[in-house]
Amino acid sequence: ELNLADTKKWMNLFVEEVEKNKSNLNELDTAIGDGDHGTNMDRGMQAITAALEKKEPSDLAELYKTVAFAMIQKIGGASGPLYGTAFLDMSKKAKETADLTELIQVGTDGLKRRGQSDVGMKTMIDVWQPVATALKDNKFNQQAVDEALESTKDMVATKGRASYLEEKSRGHLDPGSQSSAYLFGALIKVIG
Ligand code: ADP
Ligand code: MG
Ligand code: MG
Repeated sequence: ELNLADTKKWMNLFVEEVEKNKSNLNELDTAIGDGDHGTNMDRGMQAITAALEKKEPSDLAELYKTVAFAMIQKIGGASGPLYGTAFLDMSKKAKETADLTELIQVGTDGLKRRGQSDVGMKTMIDVWQPVATALKDNKFNQQAVDEALESTKDMVATKGRASYLEEKSRGHLDPGSQSSAYLFGALIKVIG
């Protein structure tokens, strides 16, 4: 379980991490996409900070919803609606449970539904699903996140912009998986 205060810390650390690594995300996306993933995410992170400052969420569901709306409205690209759907589904689920393992799996299922995608397609799902599974198995740590991210390097993309490159998409990390690795790295800093 992750309470409201710790979830806020998690979101704030995620924002920091993405803002610090904006150019790295853009570089990864330049290699196999259109070079804007860092810029997109950074815009969303600023919106999250502004929304949370404007109105302090009073429970988990409201916090996740605020984050989801900021993402949907401001990230743009393919990743905005995807992240937004994951957090919106987590918001709905948070009305019945604060169990992080359940919440992350529900978020992952939202990504799959919205993206019509699954593991092995070189997308952010290749970080989300391993993290959800690691949480279930009590094996969630930075190494699990790093390994999931690294696993995207040798994959050939079959969804998203990188899929246009076909075989040439191999040998590069997936940008959305990198931003998701920042998300879950931030979580590890909070839950230790
Ligand atoms: P765009 O490709 O529109 O410029 P971004 O660069 O912000 O959007 O985001 C690209 C990331 O979105 C990819 O690295 C990948 O992780 C993720 N992505 C793209 N399409 C899908 C999909 N169908 N399912 C899951 N994730 C996807
Ligand atoms: Mg892009
Ligand atoms: Mg784009």
